[in-house]
Amino acid sequence: MKYNFYAGPAILPREVIEEASKAVLDFNGMGFSLLEISHRTKEFIAVMDEAVALVKELLHIKDDHEVLFLSGGASSQFFMAPMNLLDESMKAAYVDTGTWASKAIKDGKLYGQVDVIASSKDANYSFIPKGYTIDPSYRYLHLTSNNTIYGTQYKSFPETSVPIICDMSSDIFSREIDINKFDLIYAGAQKNMGPAGTTLVVVRKSALGKVSRKIPAMLNYENHIEAGSMYNTPPVFPVYVSMLTLRWIKKNGGVAGIQKMNEAKADALYNEIERNGLFYTPTAHEDRSNMNICFLLHDTELEKEFLAKCKEAGCFGLEGHRSVGGFRASVYNAMNMEGIEVLVGVMKEFEKVKG
Ligand SMILES: *Cc1c(COP(=O)(O)O)cnc(C)c1O
Repeated sequence: MKYNFYAGPAILPREVIEEASKAVLDFNGMGFSLLEISHRTKEFIAVMDEAVALVKELLHIKDDHEVLFLSGGASSQFFMAPMNLLDESMKAAYVDTGTWASKAIKDGKLYGQVDVIASSKDANYSFIPKGYTIDPSYRYLHLTSNNTIYGTQYKSFPETSVPIICDMSSDIFSREIDINKFDLIYAGAQKNMGPAGTTLVVVRKSALGKVSRKIPAMLNYENHIEAGSMYNTPPVFPVYVSMLTLRWIKKNGGVAGIQKMNEAKADALYNEIERNGLFYTPTAHEDRSNMNICFLLHDTELEKEFLAKCKEAGCFGLEGHRSVGGFRASVYNAMNMEGIEVLVGVMKEFEKVKG
């Protein structure tokens, strides 16, 4: 048995992969592969419609928000969001909680004035800044709900009259968040939803159409809304697999059900990190991510040996990001408790030998 702890592209439910593989051979008994049919067929339109409907249902999205499946990765939203929402004369606030937030800041500066109103950079992004004031004149506040590399996560979002834009790439569908409160959220599929190649965007319609610049058609949210995410050829296969994953989430109790599982998984692993004298986590207790669990060995000399033991037990993808070091267990929705138990078992065994 192999357990997939990779940070992204990441684990998907086995049954989703099996069903997707069948669609590659023969989609819906059409006698064609999903990969060779027009996106204008009624069969694929039904896939897009169901994917959008499931996002709305699972996230309890109301009518003033639109759901889009775009391409270009979450990274394209770093510029597409300000391009559509921020005029040159306007100011936007950003919170810098790590590598992805920094990239969003850099691109935001191309379209207007950007203030980094809070940052945990000096502490190697080991916590989520809190207690800062947000001037109500900002066009928007940009946040990153889960910091994939550093293992921190917002447990609550600032209360403010300023519209919030949030990069939810690595914790979308992992816990209940009221998306209706945000003007725009986006998430690359490959962390918790599907294969790489599509990005989920949920945007408040009334926030659009207010900037004066000219926007290329492909980068204009309004065009994609009007065309139902089919302004150009959509990423057919990633949208299909995402739809299957959304069905799987629904079957597993919806986001609330998944959240319970995720909390139990994260608790089990953090408890062992705290109990086991060989390990520690660098992240602030109240900001610890339930998706990406970063931990280190006090004795860094033992890192290679520990990773080898993990692999022997079937646990893969545990190397920490190069900017943090140590280990990172990405425990997205599709990781089950068994995988956590196997990893905890390896940590206990390692303690017996080295402790
Ligand atoms: C992975 C990730 C991204 C980048 O996603 P791409 O689809 O590769 O552009 C952006 N933000 C966060 C929080 C991520 O985890």
